[in-house]
Amino acid sequence: MDNNPFPDSPVMPTMFDGSKAINFRCHRDIGCWNACCSNIDISLTPYDVLRLKQRLELGSGEFLNTYTVPYEIEKDGLAGVKLRPVDGGTACRFMTPEGCGVYSDRPTACRYYPVALLSMRKQDEYIDQNSYALVQEPHCLGHQDPRSITVNDYRAEQGLPEYDDLARGWRQLILKKKSSGPSIGKPSKRSLQLFFMACYDLDRFREFVASEGFSDLFDIPDEELLKILGDDVNLLEFAFRFLRQTLFGETSIALRAESVEKRKERQQERNLRLEREAAERMEREEDSGFDEDLPGNSCSSN
Ligand code: SF4
Ligand code: SF4
Repeated sequence: MDNNPFPDSPVMPTMFDGSKAINFRCHRDIGCWNACCSNIDISLTPYDVLRLKQRLELGSGEFLNTYTVPYEIEKDGLAGVKLRPVDGGTACRFMTPEGCGVYSDRPTACRYYPVALLSMRKQDEYIDQNSYALVQEPHCLGHQDPRSITVNDYRAEQGLPEYDDLARGWRQLILKKKSSGPSIGKPSKRSLQLFFMACYDLDRFREFVASEGFSDLFDIPDEELLKILGDDVNLLEFAFRFLRQTLFGETSIALRAESVEKRKERQQERNLRLEREAAERMEREEDSGFDEDLPGNSCSSN
């Protein structure tokens, strides 16, 4: 997946792996301080949303409404969210004269900058491989600093291993959707809504998992369910499992036998109803065709 946080950068990035050394340092006394936060285009991972809503002590719905705008990750495909800039401007709402107001919970793209993460997935594999690129924008003076650091060390310095680990399930879903093409086809409106809720609106997803309807369908031991519901990170990881099952049929959450039976019954009833309706329609069409062809039915009998 192209996760370049600055896709409109005029610089065409060259891809490299984590052992590549770059010259870069950003610090409070640099002449371009806050320039990058004054004109933002920051896509958020589900873990970014989780960290920020916890930081701001908001429910996921309120956080999404106030601080994000939705966008389409790909046409007719899955939805993402970006940070919403200040009203009528392009600056980040968290920017302060001292720097980032949510620094220890800042999003993945802010941590990576000026490195861009590019994940790729081999067909039919869930193993994604990371490559990186350097975004060299003229306003960013950090590139002129002589400090040399490998991308791997830069990632560690910026706390990215944790962020990448907890976004892996989400990136894999997007890569799988992108590479599955017409075999999966256009996802239904409901599956797109489920994707959005499970990935970003975590508190609503918690209510959904805690609902009676959910436990009627899925067979999750009580102890496991409590762990899932009691911790945002566990819930998020469960969300990716749930989506792999509902979007791609990769079953890892047991279904209750009776609900499987009920589903089969409902499906059979539905098939019977559709067959009956089709037969009735054909009968009606035949009847009306027969009537028209009857000689005594034409106007000429008048
Ligand atoms: S979240 Fe922080 S680092 Fe990221 S754009 Fe906003 S102010 Fe800058
Ligand atoms: S050096 Fe680059 S990353 Fe740091 S404040 Fe300046 S523009 Fe932003």
